[in-house]
Amino acid sequence: MSLLDARDSVLFVHAHPDDETISTGALIAELVARNIRVFLLTATRGERGEVVPGPLANLAGTEELTRVREQELQQAAQTLGIERQFWLGEPPARATGRAARRYRDSGMRWIHAGLAGPADDTDDQSLVAAPLDEVTEDVSALIEWLNPSLVVSYDENGGYGHPDHVRIREAALAASGAQTIPFAEILPAATPTAPPDGDDDGPGGPGSTDAEYFTLDAHLETLKAALASHATQLTVDGPEIIHSGGQRQPIETAVGLRLV
Ligand SMILES: [Zn+2]
Repeated sequence: MSLLDARDSVLFVHAHPDDETISTGALIAELVARNIRVFLLTATRGERGEVVPGPLANLAGTEELTRVREQELQQAAQTLGIERQFWLGEPPARATGRAARRYRDSGMRWIHAGLAGPADDTDDQSLVAAPLDEVTEDVSALIEWLNPSLVVSYDENGGYGHPDHVRIREAALAASGAQTIPFAEILPAATPTAPPDGDDDGPGGPGSTDAEYFTLDAHLETLKAALASHATQLTVDGPEIIHSGGQRQPIETAVGLRLV
């Protein structure tokens, strides 16, 4: 029994361009290989993210960066086999009767390695500045329009604490509930530990028997190609990606999902 059984379409809800690939790229490729239709909702255009040093660095903080990140996302989505990508705030991911809008990247700062917190400044068009109800209603509008069989987004910590991740997870969870569509959260592959007493509590150990882990090495090359699309954000270097700030992160094909 898999939580993917009898699912024929899945909507992934992510905060910024590149999140879909870094955290769920191999999973998306796997779903596509299983003939499950995959849709992607992206909340912001990653306007405040840093740019990889080198020839692209002069794009930082410009409107051109927004356009380039849109193109990078389209290329990654195509590589992974995503059927269609949507922007939050634009129909059909906009509540009926409201004018289209953009939600901007809220920015972040590192509290310590691996944990992000709110930026010192946030503009009033940012995702975290928007009322949660407005964000939820926009996600809900898309879920109603698509009627997917599963919605996937971050865990309650947003993966690593980024305020946009935490906010969009909250909205996606509430919107899924409003539309009575099952919601699964993404678990980092590092989470599973063997049950200490050797009993069969499942890969997440006691209390997470509803978690399911996928080992997806077969999609490594597709994942790398999709990662390479995000050239303003990261560089692929063998088994790792190098983020714009220089941090290295292993390319991860394994991922967990847990129904909430
Ligand atoms: Zn992100």
